[in-house]
Amino acid sequence: MSRAGRVALLAGGVGAARLLRGLAALVRPTDLTVVVNTADDDVFHGLHVSPDVDTILYTLAGLSDPGRGWGIRDDSFRAIEALARYRGDTWFRLGDRDLATHLFRTEELRAGRLLSEVTADQARALGVKVRVLPMSDGRVRTIIETAQGRLSFQEYLVRERAKPVVKSIRYEGIRTAEPAPGVLAAIEQADIVVIAPSNPFVSIAPILGLTGVRAAVRRTSAPVVAVSPLIGGRPVKGPADRMMRALGMKPSPLPLAELYKDLLDGLVIDRADRSHVPALEGRGLRVTTTNTLMNTPVRSTAVAREVLSLADAARTPLAS
Ligand code: GDP
Ligand code: CA
Repeated sequence: MSRAGRVALLAGGVGAARLLRGLAALVRPTDLTVVVNTADDDVFHGLHVSPDVDTILYTLAGLSDPGRGWGIRDDSFRAIEALARYRGDTWFRLGDRDLATHLFRTEELRAGRLLSEVTADQARALGVKVRVLPMSDGRVRTIIETAQGRLSFQEYLVRERAKPVVKSIRYEGIRTAEPAPGVLAAIEQADIVVIAPSNPFVSIAPILGLTGVRAAVRRTSAPVVAVSPLIGGRPVKGPADRMMRALGMKPSPLPLAELYKDLLDGLVIDRADRSHVPALEGRGLRVTTTNTLMNTPVRSTAVAREVLSLADAARTPLAS
């Protein structure tokens, strides 16, 4: 265990989970808080599904499916297949064991409890000691305006496989939803704030868009370090590059640095993107280049170690 102190991680799903398993190997669980995007949440078959919260919980509990990147390892899909006999529209697949998570969450929410409370219960039941905070107990929903019309995020990503051309992205409810209890305090009290290699538009932007969150990350005297989700200008998975292009950016760590420019002290990028180092350093950022593909636990720990040492280095001012 390192003496990194308290670490706050802003997280989406799979990219965040891969870095998190590395951080969890280096930082005491009680020093680690994960603030998780909930703008992807949706209701399927009457059940409240929080895809990013589930990915984070399952990863920390050692239950995640490494190949698929969502759901529980070795899960079966008999319930959803049986349901398909009643309705054709089962494009959002939920595993049999995974269903238990959504059944419990939905029932508790219906009884009037908060998502943050239910998530804490689920973490406890799964033996997760890291603090997992959904970004908000309020309702925020990512809406993708496409050439084919308005889609919810899951319709865009899962049903339409991210094919429709993106025109704009909005976060319904973002102005009125408040950060969940503990979110602002976790950022304010952190010794290091880490922005996961998650999709900047649909995973990180909703968290930063909640009242007070971006300001808290900007204000903290703790180093703020991000890991780029791009390798050689391409995401490991998902539509981050397509979204960048659709919004007029050339996929690379540069637009990422631009999106986070008021926040970052340091950025970890892949070696494949090293040609961008001078431009990034020219913006006053500290940059580490490494192999950022975290396809094994060992690689996750190696990248997490780079994050912590970059944060350490950022505590001393850059010579100019
Ligand atoms: P989602 O909600 O499950 O799509 O998850 P995120 O937003 O957290 O993750 C999607 C992003 O994670 C994509 O842009 C990927 O490029 C990135 N990602 C996934 N695995 C890795 C990895 O091993 N290394 C890096 N650098 N990025 C990754
Ligand atoms: Ca997600």
